[in-house]
Amino acid sequence: MGAMKDFVKSLFLTELLKGMTVTGRYFFARKITVQYPEEKTPQGFRFRGLHALRRYPNGEERCISCKLCEAVCPAMAITIEGAAREDGSRRTTRYDIDLTKCIFCGFCEEACPVDAIVETRVFEYHGEKRGDLYYTKQMLLANGDRYEAQIAADRALDAKYR
Ligand code: SF4
Ligand code: SF4
Repeated sequence: MGAMKDFVKSLFLTELLKGMTVTGRYFFARKITVQYPEEKTPQGFRFRGLHALRRYPNGEERCISCKLCEAVCPAMAITIEGAAREDGSRRTTRYDIDLTKCIFCGFCEEACPVDAIVETRVFEYHGEKRGDLYYTKQMLLANGDRYEAQIAADRALDAKYR
């Protein structure tokens, strides 16, 4: 009986017609494939991408070397060394993030009392060698300088929900 059924199915190409029906239905349906990189999906203001260290408007770096971000980082991706300045304030002498270890959990920015370390919306970056994804303090500050306008706008939006 089963063999007969299979014979009839193959004779009338029913499986092929079923497949063509599915193809036809999706051919005219609204397309959901995004043509990246020409098209991008929307991003939330809490998107967790490339890290940045921020400065105050007067150019002073925000980070006070409290090391809370280093302590909270579950991937142990952050390495900080700090020292007191002549004026008594404390600042980092070394602030590195190894992005090959980072899991982009956002704990570092949540822990920071002065909004210094943040994750930007930037996700289009890459490294060709392992060391390329080892971000030093200068690289992180440069990210902060480059993306400060977007970071500040996102933090202002975020503040409404805190
Ligand atoms: S996002 Fe998470 S894993 Fe990455 S550096 Fe911050 S705390 Fe560590
Ligand atoms: S980035 Fe924030 S949490 Fe981390 S050491 Fe600096 S002030 Fe502290």
